[in-house]
Amino acid sequence: MSDTNGTGGTGGAHEANAANHTTRAGTASGVSSASGAAGGTADAGGLDAALFAAWAEEIAAAVRADRDRLTALDSAIGDADHGANLDRGFTAVAEALAGGRPDTPGALLSLVGNTLIRKVGGASGPLYGMAFREAGKALGDAPEVSLADLDAALAAGLAGIRRLGSAAEGDKTMVDALAPALRALTQAVQEGLAPAEAVGAAAEAALAGAQATIPMQARKGRASYLGPRSLGHEDPGAASTALIVRALHAAVSRTAGAPGERSGPAPGETSRRAPEGPA
Ligand code: ADP
Ligand code: MG
Repeated sequence: MSDTNGTGGTGGAHEANAANHTTRAGTASGVSSASGAAGGTADAGGLDAALFAAWAEEIAAAVRADRDRLTALDSAIGDADHGANLDRGFTAVAEALAGGRPDTPGALLSLVGNTLIRKVGGASGPLYGMAFREAGKALGDAPEVSLADLDAALAAGLAGIRRLGSAAEGDKTMVDALAPALRALTQAVQEGLAPAEAVGAAAEAALAGAQATIPMQARKGRASYLGPRSLGHEDPGAASTALIVRALHAAVSRTAGAPGERSGPAPGETSRRAPEGPA
């Protein structure tokens, strides 16, 4: 059952947020190509449809590997379907991509979003579906996008989640992982970090954000029905968001730099096991 607690009335503020990101992304694109030259991507832009396909495939593998953990988290404060929901959705995404990959990052993310909306039930299907669709829309039809464009796209995705689910940070949802991840990414873009480092910082922030949901009391979604009994458990959607951002880091680390170009573990990997999934 969908359980996104209505569409809320805070869309305007969050739209403004996304617009700020877009503006910043526009002005930061020079920074992004400079960081590319410094050891990330080969050219200005540099993040192409292949990178985004690799991200989707990494997510599918990570969700498959952590399916039981996500389900266990959801059995503590929900209805024990989160792992199965996402596994079904991202398996369908991987199958769709195997049948033909869209040519642009925007089209690719839109395909991911549409597939999730079709295949994943519950709260997380519409929310993640919305996020990927909005991110895809933000990327337009450019064949390659920059790290700053990616940052703006993820901001649009987060704005979509907030509009649909009207959750704020602290409500114990996926927003508690995605919002800090996005803040870390935005800061990294402004500092001119290379893509793998920047996304590594985002992955680390997402993981910390997910863990920070443990002492929270849920105010949105199914877990909110438990009231104080939701305390002491990690939110399953925040945990899956951390997986999704970690998968992006894995994809960017593998494809956005030539072998040997990486200088040691990126920030997201320093306190974390290496991303699983295909090597
Ligand atoms: P359901 O709760 O319908 O079974 P899932 O188990 O797939 O759906 O997903 C549950 C997750 O969805 C929660 O852990 C939470 O992170 C997220 N979620 C639920 N409601 C909202 C909301 N209104 N806004 C943002 N995220 C939400
Ligand atoms: Mg559930």
